[in-house]
Amino acid sequence: MHRAAPHDLGRPKAPPVRVVHSRSRFAPTRTGICPATGFNSFIRPTLVLGKTYMSRKRSIRGFTLIELLVVVAIIAVLAGLLLPALAKARSRANATVCLSKLKQLGMGVAMYEGDNRDVLPQTSHQAASWIGMLAAYGLTNVYQCPVDTNHLRITSYAINDFLTPHPYGALTLDFSRLTAVPAPSETLHLAEARGDYTGADHFHFADASGGGFTPNAFAADVAVLRHRGAANYLFADAHVEGLQWLRIQLLLGPPITRFVRPDGMTNTP
Ligand SMILES: [Zn+2]
Ligand SMILES: [Zn+2]
Repeated sequence: MHRAAPHDLGRPKAPPVRVVHSRSRFAPTRTGICPATGFNSFIRPTLVLGKTYMSRKRSIRGFTLIELLVVVAIIAVLAGLLLPALAKARSRANATVCLSKLKQLGMGVAMYEGDNRDVLPQTSHQAASWIGMLAAYGLTNVYQCPVDTNHLRITSYAINDFLTPHPYGALTLDFSRLTAVPAPSETLHLAEARGDYTGADHFHFADASGGGFTPNAFAADVAVLRHRGAANYLFADAHVEGLQWLRIQLLLGPPITRFVRPDGMTNTP
């Protein structure tokens, strides 16, 4: 039983605390003590407001330096994985474009032979160059390999001079007609010239004094490594192949094949 203290005598009695229930039984109002939680309502709402305020601050803050560095590192790793694959795909695409151009040149050669009693297109030594001869068949944009760095000359490709009449260094030979070539599918017709090749529209494989077509002399004129260790070649029967340098060295001999000289002999007359 409550008894008033002596000093309370004569003072008006304090009004009782009014408790108002909110929507949540754990969220008391500012007007008193919540009967459900027992917290003082003058403290609890402050905590609730403080928690709400802090969560808002967390939602609008930016990245920390560590997070940014992690993202940059992940992007760098992904780029490191992706770029070599892209470079490889691009290189393959260029090799395919080059091969396609050589194939079109082969079709042009076949059409020219058909119109000229099996005579192969010749070089600037004989008459008009094979370039002009094939251009007459509508071939105007197929003379440059996309990887060739020499943009000053009009063609990236040159003709095997063994397929011209009486080439310099082998004047007794004449394989200038397709019917005179013993194995057209084995003999090189056009190959890719190196960027620093100073010749015109043909190679000088028949000239033994200039090295002939030994592997060293061949690689000095032909871009044997242009397409990822390989190069594209057009054969006398108009088929094309991309061949690795190791494969070419085997074809150059010894023993000599029909790859350069159509009769399979050495380049010593
Ligand atoms: Zn090429
Ligand atoms: Zn010449």
